[in-house]
Order: sequence, then C-alpha cells, then structure tokens
Amino acid sequence: MLDISVKAPAKINLTLDVLHRREDGYHDLEMVMTTVDLADRIDLTETSSGISLESTSGFVPHDDRNLAYRAAALIKKRFGIQKGVHIHIHKHIPVAAGLAGGSSDAAAVLKGLNRMWDLGLSVEELAALGLELGSDVPFCVTGGTAIARGRGEILTPLPSPPPCWVILAKPPHGVSTAEVFGALRLEDIRKRPDLDAMVEALRNQDFDGICRNLSNVLEEVTIPAYPQVRRLKERMIRFGGEGVLMSGSGPTVFGLVRRENTAKRVVNGLRGFCRQVYAVRMMGGLEANT
Ligand code: ATP
Repeated sequence: MLDISVKAPAKINLTLDVLHRREDGYHDLEMVMTTVDLADRIDLTETSSGISLESTSGFVPHDDRNLAYRAAALIKKRFGIQKGVHIHIHKHIPVAAGLAGGSSDAAAVLKGLNRMWDLGLSVEELAALGLELGSDVPFCVTGGTAIARGRGEILTPLPSPPPCWVILAKPPHGVSTAEVFGALRLEDIRKRPDLDAMVEALRNQDFDGICRNLSNVLEEVTIPAYPQVRRLKERMIRFGGEGVLMSGSGPTVFGLVRRENTAKRVVNGLRGFCRQVYAVRMMGGLEANT
C-alpha cells in the first residue's frame, strides 16, 4: 500500500561564496539557492518496523549511507516511533552533481514522515532536524529561493527568478563536495559574488541582472581539476546561454535562457558533447513545498 508521495526538487546556486573556515571544521557560506523543476519522487509506505530502501538508481547506496534512510532513522529515534517505513526513491536528479539530490531526498523524507506519523513539526523544526543530516537539507526543506548563510541553515527568503528555462548539463564524472572544500584556499579566491547586486536583481525581477551576477567561488577549484566544466560553459554560452555557471561544487553546469527556442538550441548544441542534459523550468516558490 502506497501511503505518501513527496517531490524532491534539485537546487542550483545563483551565487556561492565561502567566507571562512570555522573551528568546527565547517565553512561559513553565503549563497543564493533556488529550486528547479527537476525532481526525484519519494514514495513512503508504512511498515510494521525497521527501515528499508530501494531506488531506481544504481549510483546511490541503499543502506544507512543513504541520506533519505538517515532522515527516517533520525525521525524514528528522536520521536520514539516503533512503526517502520519503506522508502522508494525514483531518482531523476544526477548523483554527486552539485544539485543537492541527496539532501533533497532527505528533506522529502522528513516532510513525508511528519505527515505520515502526524508529528506536527513546523517547517523550521524540520529544517533544524535537517541540519543534523547535511548543510543543504534545511534549504531543501523550505525550497523556493533564499540566501543561505552559516553552514547553510540561516535562511532568508527571496523572490524567485522570473520564469525562464534552465539547461542542466552534467559531465560523466561526479565531484566530491568534501574534496572541493578541502582543496579550496580562501586566500587565493580571485572573484567573489556581489550578493547585494543579486538580491537587487531578484527583487526587480531583472533577468539580465541575475545572469550578470551569477558567481561561484568553487569554480576556481573544480574547473582546473575538471577542464570539461570550462568547455561546457563555453559551449553553453556559444549556443545561447544568457547566464552560465557551475552549480555547487560541480560538476553540473547550468545555463539560464528566457525563450524556449533558445533552450532547444542550447540542448542541441550540447548533443554529442555531454550525455546528461536537461531543459527544465525555473521552479520558483510556487510548487517547491508540495
Ligand atoms: P550537494 O550539492 O548537496 O553537495 P550533490 O548533488 O553534489 O550534493 P548528491 O547527489 O547528494 O551530491 O550525492 C553525494 C553523495 O551522497 C553521493 O556520492 C551518494 O553516494 C551519496 N548519497 C547518499 N544518499 C543519497 C541520495 N538519496 N541521493 C543521491 N546521493 C546520495
């Protein structure tokens, strides 16, 4: 019996800045994140006890290394729930891609179990639980568009970008977020995002301003290690990408375009160059929380 189905959308970073390394080993971040309409689907079925997990992807673990599994374990332990759950992840978001697929799956499980087991937790309480699982989980709980500060948990909502198309292109290799942060030398960062300018562009629904202010300091680590990311960016721009950036720690590159025809041209331009290419809509705040 299927009990609950939850959508787990991917996110992209419109800006990503790393401010400093903290004593606890984490970094203080400042980033603008937004959800896009590329989503996993999580089906949750109540069982008599335990946690089991299956997924349509061969690239994710199916045991307690899976963030969705850990989300269920956290809820069961924290609230002393004896019942169990079977988690079925229909995976559409590329794995280890900089799109927060695992974090979004975890957020979806938290939201789904909150409903299934009538826990009555607020979005803020779910986000706080999410932080125990990973830095991107709190944003994935709230969705929409927001500035994320601290480890990623201090969220300030923003207006979502105006309707547009997002082309996502994922090179064949994955990138480890931990390795990218480990290799980042803060004193060597050459160009940092202009957060105020991005916020202003979002408030004014200024598409060109958003495109002009896309910026991610992690490109300076990932691109030298994976030159294909630079080539993908160049190709996206050549075929009509109006704003092009690497998302998160990479290696996925996204391109924003206003018109559907341009989106098709960019997708065609990437054919034969990159196998995993998606054209999706900017999701904004409307459906992010369903
Ligand atoms: P972020 O943008 O938050 O850094 P990401 O998109 O780069 O994340 P994920 O797709 O979340 O990366 O996967 C990172 C690692 O987490 C993978 O190596 C994968 O094995 C593991 N993982 C655990 N649970 C999941 C899940 N539910 N979906 C995808 N990956 C998962």
